[in-house]
Amino acid sequence: MRVTVIGGGLAGCEATYQIAKRGIDVILIDAKPIVKSPAHKYDTLAELVCSNSLKSNDITVASGLLKQELRLLDSLLVRCADSCRVPAGSALAVQREQFSVMVTQQLENMPHVTVSHAIVKDFVPSSRDQINIVATGPLTLDDMLPSLRQFCGDFLHFYDAVAPIVTGESIDYNSAFSQSRYDKGDADYLNCPMNKDEFINFWQQLTTANTVPIKHYENNVFEGCMPIEVMASRGIDTIRYGMFKPVGLTDKRTGYRPYAVLQLRRENTQGTLYNLVGCQTHLTFGDQKRVFSLIPALANADFVRYGVMHRNTYINSPTLLNQFYQSITYPNLFFAGQLTGVEGYVESIASGLVAGINVSRLVQSKRLTEMDNCTMIGALARHVSTPCVSYQPMNANFGLLPPLANNVRDKKVKYSMLADISLARIKQYVDSM
Ligand SMILES: Cc1cc2nc3c(=O)[nH]c(=O)nc-3n(C[C@H](O)[C@H](O)[C@H](O)COP(=O)(O)OP(=O)(O)OC[C@H]3O[C@@H](n4cnc5c(N)ncnc54)[C@H](O)[C@@H]3O)c2cc1C
Repeated sequence: MRVTVIGGGLAGCEATYQIAKRGIDVILIDAKPIVKSPAHKYDTLAELVCSNSLKSNDITVASGLLKQELRLLDSLLVRCADSCRVPAGSALAVQREQFSVMVTQQLENMPHVTVSHAIVKDFVPSSRDQINIVATGPLTLDDMLPSLRQFCGDFLHFYDAVAPIVTGESIDYNSAFSQSRYDKGDADYLNCPMNKDEFINFWQQLTTANTVPIKHYENNVFEGCMPIEVMASRGIDTIRYGMFKPVGLTDKRTGYRPYAVLQLRRENTQGTLYNLVGCQTHLTFGDQKRVFSLIPALANADFVRYGVMHRNTYINSPTLLNQFYQSITYPNLFFAGQLTGVEGYVESIASGLVAGINVSRLVQSKRLTEMDNCTMIGALARHVSTPCVSYQPMNANFGLLPPLANNVRDKKVKYSMLADISLARIKQYVDSM
């Protein structure tokens, strides 16, 4: 059997590792550095294209639970992320370049792995001796679109937005203060407070600013990655109850909770770069500078990267894939990552892990294996493969898990109980393997 993984992003790298560690030869092909999408900058694999955060490590938060499941399942990428961690409160944020280099080196030095570079156009295996995993991501190169269209019949496009990044030295520290919300973590966030007048002015300018013209196919924004200006346009308090919420934050210099707060998260260990948390946007570059500079701490901010709109391509998985991320029509063809409609870094890693394990089992003529429905990783696989009216990408969330037998009102207690069940099932799975 010849196994090929197409796409060396988060999902493709994890899938490659899972296959190779089971003693199976695997070729990993990525188009970089020959061609890069507008969001990819590095020549190395497993690039985090936007935020450097893999979200919470708390198992009572869905993404935290998913990461803990992945640790138990021996995920290479989560292990590398843990090794490249930068301070970010209870979140797992990483030094992105170090992370990308580490994953690349681990795979290149691993027995059974061959990394090669090419732009792949066709992905349906041409013989019974060939197994392919397609993990070309939300920015799958146009060269592959004709065969993707042919395979899917119907595949979907939509657009997400990216947050701006400013330099640490250009932030006004007379205004900004360090604190993690509810003092969880080591004051890893920089908070940019606003009083009521400042916030109202900011909101007015934000909601009337110029945006990059939207094409008809860009209209379908994903609720979980909504541009700040779209969110703000829903009402003056919408973002003050969202990403600008001041709860759990006290400006120690005044002793008061600010009216609204923009949080900045470190992009690197040195704290030389900060991203504007939750401010993904498609305002024009000029208006991004003008509007975000109305926040006093950012009055003289130096923007090193502006927010941009980007394409997000995903297939209509429920009609095309089963719970193993395997094509219903071609058993030797698997998909993984955001292209399947899982949304997010960790979710992409998780789907790569499941696809990789199952490809190994197919090669070894073993029964394909399903993760328990009570686990986050299993619930995502079920989401991807369950028929529905209008298929939408999905982040890990507790709503995907079967409810507890008894109704528990306290959310934190409920999530903690669901997490315990999930991790116990993963341990059983690992023992049974
Ligand atoms: C701009 C942007 C910002 C995002 N921000 C976040 C965020 O902040 N947090 C978050 O959790 N998620 C974010 N996402 C969503 C998603 O989690 C990431 O895109 C994630 O990297 C998806 O993993 P993947 O493995 O599916 O694809 P990718 O990591 O994108 O990897 C795909 C790989 O396939 C290669 N490739 C593409 N086409 C071909 C081809 N034809 N032949 C060969 N190789 C090819 C590419 O070079 C790339 O290396 C963002 C997505 C985008 C596009």
